[in-house]
Amino acid sequence: MLVEQIWTENDYRNFNYLIACPETGEALAIDPLDYKRCLATAKEKGWEITQIVNTHHHHDHIGGNQDVVDATGAKLLAHAGASDQIPNMDVGLKAGDIVKVGKTVELEALDTPGHTMSHVCLLSQTDTPALFAGDTMFNAGAGHCKSGGHPESLYSTFTQQIAKLPDSTQIYPGHDYIANNLKFTLDREPGNAKAQSLLADVEGQDTHQAMVTTLGLEKEINTFFRLDSTGVIDKLREAFPDLPSDPDEQTVFLKLRELRNDW
Ligand SMILES: [Zn+2]
Ligand SMILES: [Zn+2]
Repeated sequence: MLVEQIWTENDYRNFNYLIACPETGEALAIDPLDYKRCLATAKEKGWEITQIVNTHHHHDHIGGNQDVVDATGAKLLAHAGASDQIPNMDVGLKAGDIVKVGKTVELEALDTPGHTMSHVCLLSQTDTPALFAGDTMFNAGAGHCKSGGHPESLYSTFTQQIAKLPDSTQIYPGHDYIANNLKFTLDREPGNAKAQSLLADVEGQDTHQAMVTTLGLEKEINTFFRLDSTGVIDKLREAFPDLPSDPDEQTVFLKLRELRNDW
């Protein structure tokens, strides 16, 4: 499996992706908002884009669809429940569906509600798995739920699906928010030395060559995976004095999500 992470340089800080089969050169584009860069990259690599997957319906993820379809004739795939919101979908994806790219690449669709209620992530069926996470999770952070999502669903997606993937899973999110997210982690957990050193590494990095995290690393530096940390809970109590003495993980997640909204 060949992966190109395409940094769009836009204000929303979107990442687009091309995933290609090394044998056939067939490629799948994920959320190709910057269709010019996606088409140019495919051309440069000698790849043919035959499919588009939208992780969800927000405009900064679907806005390049038509131009890519016009240029390549690619089929458009997205969550089956998003067909009212995404024009001209060809295929509706359900949990467990396998998307094949060329001869060698298989991507499993995960049904990951929370940021929106019709959101898919793609999980590669490779020795080292890769998760194309859209706006469900970011490097060091979690998607917001303000545009059609529900934080309780996002909590379930994090704990019941993402956290159970192998620690070696590489995380490819829909946006470059890592530096700001690490600052939130450090606001919540000032003693997190790993987050501190990572922040120094990524501040000023060339986003065209962005660092790719693993789920194992995320569990150390992403507050939304650190729900049983006493440091996180104690600090949360400063903001929410009536937090129970031993809060359950869902309560901690929801309070963190609430704080992050206004942070
Ligand atoms: Zn979104
Ligand atoms: Zn987005």
